[in-house]
Amino acid sequence: MSPTIDSPSIAFDNSYAALPPEFYQRLPPTPVSQPELIAINEALARNLGIDADALRSPGGIRMLAGNTVPDGASPLAMAYAGHQFGNWVPQLGDGRAILLGEVIGEDGVRYDIQLKGAGPTPFSRGGDGRNWIGPVLREYVVSEAMAALGVPTTRALAAVRTGDHVMRELGPLPGAILTRVARSHVRVGTFQYFTARQNHAAVEQLLNYVIERHYPEAAQAEIPALALLDAVIDAQASLIAHWQSLGFIHGVMNTDNSSITGDTIDYGPCAFMDSFAADKVFSSIDRGARYAYQNQPRIAQWNLVNLAQCLLPLLNEDKEEAVRLAQESINRFDERFVGNYLTRMRAKLGLVGEQDEDLTLISSLLNLMQTHSLDFTLTFRQLSKRSATDPFAPGGTLHDWHRSWQQRVGDEATAQEAATRLMQNSNPVIIPRNHQVEAMIDAAVHDGNLAPFQALLQAVTSPFDPAHEESPFAAPPRPEEVVTRTFCGT
Ligand code: AMP
Ligand code: MG
Repeated sequence: MSPTIDSPSIAFDNSYAALPPEFYQRLPPTPVSQPELIAINEALARNLGIDADALRSPGGIRMLAGNTVPDGASPLAMAYAGHQFGNWVPQLGDGRAILLGEVIGEDGVRYDIQLKGAGPTPFSRGGDGRNWIGPVLREYVVSEAMAALGVPTTRALAAVRTGDHVMRELGPLPGAILTRVARSHVRVGTFQYFTARQNHAAVEQLLNYVIERHYPEAAQAEIPALALLDAVIDAQASLIAHWQSLGFIHGVMNTDNSSITGDTIDYGPCAFMDSFAADKVFSSIDRGARYAYQNQPRIAQWNLVNLAQCLLPLLNEDKEEAVRLAQESINRFDERFVGNYLTRMRAKLGLVGEQDEDLTLISSLLNLMQTHSLDFTLTFRQLSKRSATDPFAPGGTLHDWHRSWQQRVGDEATAQEAATRLMQNSNPVIIPRNHQVEAMIDAAVHDGNLAPFQALLQAVTSPFDPAHEESPFAAPPRPEEVVTRTFCGT
């Protein structure tokens, strides 16, 4: 039987596979025992010109499980390196992911299609190359929630069970594969991989590739590498501001998990905060609290310094001048981040225009929320909704703050209405709360029940819908439901 005979037709147009051989290792996914469909993302499939029914067919499911390779794919594992928790690791790479190839979406954007959990590769470093259903469902729900919230992110096209078990600390767990779609999987660590090997030709090839694919305007700049660095700094500053405005904690902001496009990538032990605390950490492996909520901007900048270091030889022949240019760009991160952060936080508070005291108003609210352990998502929502029992009401812990806010917004009905509209479109009703995420994973693992996954997915993909206001997914956890740790689960 031909391995490709019944795969869905996908209009692959592969560019990464045309790069020199040191950029990747070519290999197909490793087949699994008994593939079964978990979910298909129809809207995303449509944008990629892939027939969702074909994905759902037996041939489609075999392809999503890696049991067949579709026509036109050039399966490969990408090479990269990275700093993990600040420690240099000269070789990481796709140890459990296979890039099938790229397609041009209806939106004109080129997308990678990757199977995550598709078996061992030369980069597996002793790992099994597999994924269990927990991280697959978590990434599916959280990445689709992020997309619906308007945050740049990789997407989930599909998930399948493999019918095999994978061994993890928790014991044998059901295996699964996520089909991930990304504007690209090039990371800061991809540049680092070649710089560490002093392969300057490859750094330049990667630069040209990234400019052509993601930042074509940089090609016209006097120093294209500098324009690229500035563009990535902008993209990351905007991304991290967006995370902060939603109380999102990535959890593993290693340089290999820092995307060149400024997308959220590699959802591991990530979490949205329930009660606000600036120093909050969820990841069970982040013992030094390196990736705490409040550290995220600083860490993003640290990652960008590593990118800048890779680009130095392409900035100027004179090393000192190259360092000066890079430093100048890196120094702009703060200003870019704060600008983006203020824009997002002003919108969350319904503040029109800019006033000098706005940052104080924002910070004093966050301080009060921390003091009183108030729920991040719900508190902002309560400000736009207002009821007699919320903390902004007379006698509530935020009542004094509310008076300053009221002064800033103004008393006129039109000002109030504009503020409310702005707030309702900036403050989600629903985010994927940890206790709900854990509950849906539990149901899938222990009862094979996917209904909680489907219900949560549906809720988080219309996060601003006021109809959800009374939904159980909008409610913060009860004290006994609070999740304080997330596991990498790899
Ligand atoms: P991550 O934590 O997903 O960012 O992965 C960090 C590195 O470990 C990457 O090189 C992964 O490919 C690799 N890795 C993670 N889990 C596995 C696994 N189960 N088998 C092989 N490699 C893995
Ligand atoms: Mg990673």
